[in-house]
Amino acid sequence: MAQQGRARRPMMAANWKMNKLVAEAEEYVAQLLPKISGAEGVDVAIFAPFTCVAQVASMTQDTPVVAGAQNLYFEDSGAFTGEVSAPMLKELGVGAVIVGHSERREIFGETDEAVARKTVRAVEAGFLPVVCVGETKEERDSGKMWEKVSGQVRAAFEYLDANRVDGEGIVFAYEPIWAIGTGEVASPEDAQDAIERIRGLLEELGGEDFAGKVRILYGGSIKPGNVGEIMAQKDVDGGLVGGASLEADSFAELVTGAARES
Ligand code: PEP
Repeated sequence: MAQQGRARRPMMAANWKMNKLVAEAEEYVAQLLPKISGAEGVDVAIFAPFTCVAQVASMTQDTPVVAGAQNLYFEDSGAFTGEVSAPMLKELGVGAVIVGHSERREIFGETDEAVARKTVRAVEAGFLPVVCVGETKEERDSGKMWEKVSGQVRAAFEYLDANRVDGEGIVFAYEPIWAIGTGEVASPEDAQDAIERIRGLLEELGGEDFAGKVRILYGGSIKPGNVGEIMAQKDVDGGLVGGASLEADSFAELVTGAARES
């Protein structure tokens, strides 16, 4: 059921990860746009691989869909083989960027320090950063969920002056690692609990007005069948979706599901 007077505009974000060739990306966007044209009141972002960001950006240019990248580097240019900078992404028409996805942290060794630098660079460059935080199964089972998540949120603020950042200019995503790509979704109550605590911490770090404006998404095995109950939670402002975002049909269902809850 839709909440009365949702505090923040919901957002549904597709994280394609390392999937799709250029032609597949084009086909997807062409299929998606008409399917979500009636879904008002929800922000939509597609986080594509670098190789097809330009096509997604040009096809979504005059639409409400934001083209996003899955990573950026915090320096603008130089001897950083394999990295992609903010000005490079700006040139392609990127409007949002994922920072600190757990796959970057766990597989590629991205540190809290790097996430903090990327977050501030993304904000300064005018991107909407989606900063990901979340605990492993072992951390949750040993009662260390909040220690891990709060540590990641605090670390992301290392170089950020919350007094100078509008809460609308940054998004957090609570993504418990045990729920990513596993089919094991967090219960709506667990998602609400973690996200409410993150909002409380953001209030401590940036004040009430800031925390009230920051959108906090849930990510981890969201599907058309569970999006409604997750979105119905008071502090959950949307979803960051991997697997179920890879088909235009199912991502369109998630967008329209989120619009129903808005
Ligand atoms: C993700 O990659 O951010 C994610 C939440 O993946 P999935 O929806 O497949 O669990």
